[in-house]
Amino acid sequence: MSIRKVVKYGEPSLREPSKDVHKVSQKIKVLVDDLLDTMYAQNGVGLAAPQIGENYRVFVIDVSTGDQPLNPMVFINPKIIKKSGACISHEGCLSFPEAFTDVKRYANVMVKAMDRNGRSFVLEATDGTLLARCIQHEFDHLDGILFIDHLINRFDAEEQLKKNNLPPIQVEKLLDEPDLEPEIEKLLEEKVKKEKEKEENKQ
Ligand code: ZN
Repeated sequence: MSIRKVVKYGEPSLREPSKDVHKVSQKIKVLVDDLLDTMYAQNGVGLAAPQIGENYRVFVIDVSTGDQPLNPMVFINPKIIKKSGACISHEGCLSFPEAFTDVKRYANVMVKAMDRNGRSFVLEATDGTLLARCIQHEFDHLDGILFIDHLINRFDAEEQLKKNNLPPIQVEKLLDEPDLEPEIEKLLEEKVKKEKEKEENKQ
């Protein structure tokens, strides 16, 4: 078990698709343990294998908070088998130190994967919870997709990258998300309306 170096945005391996795990061998178990050690060392809530330079379809998540006991979750060869709804998610990534921006996500996902013992499980995460959003973020890493590809405000995302000395947005990677966009538009309108009401109440 060891803490590994996290690959930063700009490194080509973050954009490479990862390969399936054929057998949960000792090597894969070490990879899982290294992912967990590295994620905890960096105070992250999720980490995918390509982020430590290993292009295998493996990621780990722990969304426990404060004094809750640790709850490491391991996903090997994950498949998203159901997705619905939309939510606005304020995200960062260990490969993008200090940069955060709003992105489009599904509110509900169902994922099928294998755990560290090679046992298959199905997990549902709903209502745009941190877990639901985190599963999508980490899953994307396995296909070379990064959170900024789902950006909502390009100006804000550019600012965040620049401020933190990260390379600029790769415009050709921005995703077209017709199944999310109408609902995101509505959510943004509601957000603006609420902020306006708040302002008015202050006066
Ligand atoms: Zn990430």
